[in-house]
Amino acid sequence: MVRLCGHCCAQRAVLRRPKTAEQLCRECFYAALEEEVHQTIVGARLFRPGERVAVAASGGKDSTVLAHMLTTLNARYNYGLDLFLLSIDEGISGYRDDSLETVKRNEETYKIPLHVFSYKDLYGWTMDEIVREIGTRSNCTFCGVFRRQALDRGAALVKADKIATGHNADDVAETVLLNIIRGDVPRLGRCANIVTGEDSPLPRVKPFKYTYEKEIVMYAYFKKLDYFSTECIYAPYAARGFAREFVKDLEAARPRAIVDLIRSAEQFRVPGLDGVGNAAAAAALPQPGNCERCGYISSQAGSACLWEIIPS
Ligand code: SF4
Repeated sequence: MVRLCGHCCAQRAVLRRPKTAEQLCRECFYAALEEEVHQTIVGARLFRPGERVAVAASGGKDSTVLAHMLTTLNARYNYGLDLFLLSIDEGISGYRDDSLETVKRNEETYKIPLHVFSYKDLYGWTMDEIVREIGTRSNCTFCGVFRRQALDRGAALVKADKIATGHNADDVAETVLLNIIRGDVPRLGRCANIVTGEDSPLPRVKPFKYTYEKEIVMYAYFKKLDYFSTECIYAPYAARGFAREFVKDLEAARPRAIVDLIRSAEQFRVPGLDGVGNAAAAAALPQPGNCERCGYISSQAGSACLWEIIPS
């Protein structure tokens, strides 16, 4: 027996939404997901007309769907955004060189310009060289900090007002869990913010904050989007992988668990960071400063971000 779409009741249902369990046809699924992202954007006032928005593009599913959806919504709802793709080449052979080819094809597909900045040009090191120097134990810590800086610097060079990232609901839920596991209370208080980076040169926004990873994959699959799906060769060493597995298990048992983790973190209040705490608690928290070597923002005044660990 053919099951009809639970929304239009006319077309054949081809999927069951992981987030809501609704049985939908393709067109109703596209419309539902796009509308949810649009509501997230307007509800949180992520953009203002005329802004130059850098779409952080890795060539992976999240950033490819983000580029597709932002160009679609920008045209449909007249956001008035000047969109472009911004890619960072970490210098990881057999991974980033291939994924950048996908981003270059997306530049053609979406007709928005692409700007690429590399670790080698910005820092004088590729990730392959860093891993050869320090091994694979902390490689993602380095890479994460360098990428964040590289995106900021690249976006500033091409005069962006804002960076849009493809972080999805699963990513945010994993970050919430990681901060609980590490006992990192200040980060726990802000990791679920939809706008971050107020302490760095450019704000970052997450239009997919409430969008489930499985639905992004379905959207990309049914729309036949061109994305790169190979994992980074250093990914197995990332601690985040364990949190990811745990979030997937939670989702299998209870699909709402992902959004509930995010909602829990949104309710979290850190004394001193949200104006409701006491002065002593606020004073105990690290105050951001500038790195002594590169001048970029660091977690504490007078510290040297990660440069001190890499030999000159
Ligand atoms: Fe960088 Fe680690 Fe991600 Fe690879 S898995 S791109 S090394 S952060």
